[in-house]
Amino acid sequence: MEALKRTVTCGELRTADSGREVILNGWVDAKRDHGGFSFINLRDRYGITQIVVDEKTEQPARLHNEYCIAVRGTVRSRPKEMVNKTLSTGEVEVIAAGISVLGECETPPFQIEDETNAKEELRLKYRYLDLRSGGMQRRIALRSAVSFAVREFLTEQGFLEIETPTFIKSTPEGARDYLVPSRLYAGKFYALPQSPQLYKQLLMVSGFDKYFQIARCYRDEDARGDRQPEFTQIDIEMSFVSRDDVLALTESLMAHIFKKTLKIELALNFKRLSYDEAINRFGSDKPDLRFEMELIDFAPFAIKSDFMAFKTALDSGGAVKALVAKNCAAFSRKQIDELESLCKIYKARGMAWFKVSGGGQTQVSLEGGTAKFFTPQAEALCAAINAKPGDLVLVVADSNAKIACTALGAVRKELGRLLELCDPKRFEFVWIIDFPLFERNEEEGRWEAAHHLFSFPQEKYHAVLESDPGAVKGDLYDLVLNGYELASGSIRIHDPVLQKRVFEVVGINEAEAEKKFGFLTDAFKYGAPPHGGIAPGLDRLVMLMAGESSIKEVIAFPKNSFAQSLMDDCPSEISAEQLKELHLQISPV
Ligand code: ASP
Repeated sequence: MEALKRTVTCGELRTADSGREVILNGWVDAKRDHGGFSFINLRDRYGITQIVVDEKTEQPARLHNEYCIAVRGTVRSRPKEMVNKTLSTGEVEVIAAGISVLGECETPPFQIEDETNAKEELRLKYRYLDLRSGGMQRRIALRSAVSFAVREFLTEQGFLEIETPTFIKSTPEGARDYLVPSRLYAGKFYALPQSPQLYKQLLMVSGFDKYFQIARCYRDEDARGDRQPEFTQIDIEMSFVSRDDVLALTESLMAHIFKKTLKIELALNFKRLSYDEAINRFGSDKPDLRFEMELIDFAPFAIKSDFMAFKTALDSGGAVKALVAKNCAAFSRKQIDELESLCKIYKARGMAWFKVSGGGQTQVSLEGGTAKFFTPQAEALCAAINAKPGDLVLVVADSNAKIACTALGAVRKELGRLLELCDPKRFEFVWIIDFPLFERNEEEGRWEAAHHLFSFPQEKYHAVLESDPGAVKGDLYDLVLNGYELASGSIRIHDPVLQKRVFEVVGINEAEAEKKFGFLTDAFKYGAPPHGGIAPGLDRLVMLMAGESSIKEVIAFPKNSFAQSLMDDCPSEISAEQLKELHLQISPV
């Protein structure tokens, strides 16, 4: 190899290098025969260099796409009209004096292109080839740059990067644990961490007041959306802080990352919305604020109408919410029905609608759907909700106000997509604060932690913790970017007595708490500092920065949507011997 070792990369040569003797190593990206000589585009992760092969000295026919080769040759400037402006090396080419094949390549299962449209299954099965594409190479490089920027910023701020174990005692965070059977202790299991939550809190007790870790987390959840069984968090915890300190630190971290990697200056002091406001105005606790289209309170008009379904919803303490879809009066019945089906997924019973059209004797008139119920108040209604001729008004009512809001929130999101209201180049951050601490699990008739069990109930609710759990707001915060939850965090409980009360609300009695979290509550007895933290998801962050919509595009070796790795075929069976060693038996399904 010594004689064939590259002296330059494929992205390096410029006019100033003309006349230089060089060796390049890379992959045949494309080959064009021109009778007597051929052009080869030689590719590595730094770029593409054009190689000119004279058939008198070399047989280009033996070189195929994706062969790994070494080229020895001389750099030559291209005539002006032959300059390729799309390549950084486009001003030059290398006249090959000798070519050696370092690795032959079978016909690849798909063509390696900058952005492939090969089937996902193939891309995942031959991931090592998919990763050769320009798009994947750029995204993996961006991910590396983001991780570096995280370490650079947090280290500079005095944070210590501390690893926590991967084999832990099961630490509930709301999902199912992945479990690892113990060979040495029959019937016992380690769990893979859903996050390093308890360990980072313990580090605060130990006095490591500023901790971070780029941590791998594992959650055994059913296939839903764009989830991966293992994902990466930028895990952060700080002592002696209040909510605003964590928010400010996170904003500065984001600003540093965006500046260092995308050269984008983010404006600090991100918007803040309380959870209630986010649900009320946008129908979501992760609203995309790149477009406005707010939910409107339609109750004043519902009350004045004869539309019984709306009145019933209001009478039972619910809400009637409306959206004005600008210039959408031309939507077909089918399109409107599709929006209504979306509402139903979010448990709404239906969606009413009418179109606004222009003039006649009056300024506006209402048409279609439930128009007749609102025609008597058309003028006032349209003026109040700012609906103009050509607009489509969509209304959802429910006796549960949250259902009305979230169903219409899903419609808002879909309209944003359909009407292309989301500028892919814009990054719109928003903090959602003041979340409820508990959520009701109606099926099981009990309260659950909305985030996790260790978040601090805001002081003013301590007195009603047991008597009115549904009213309690936590010191919880989410950072949302372009409609995605980018980070979650909270100020934590550090008082063992308060922690015990929270356990009790969610039905964890003292004995169970002792068994599951005794080590944490014990630690809190030894001078625990007030603390709080946050964990931005690295995969999602890089995905959004790269303008992608799946985290698989920014993970080198992701699983498919069914938690399988198609490349190495896992999960896979293990031998009878291994099972025996682990004291396990597989029962037939
Ligand atoms: N451990 C939490 C999570 O994974 C984040 C945090 O509260 O810091 O969502």
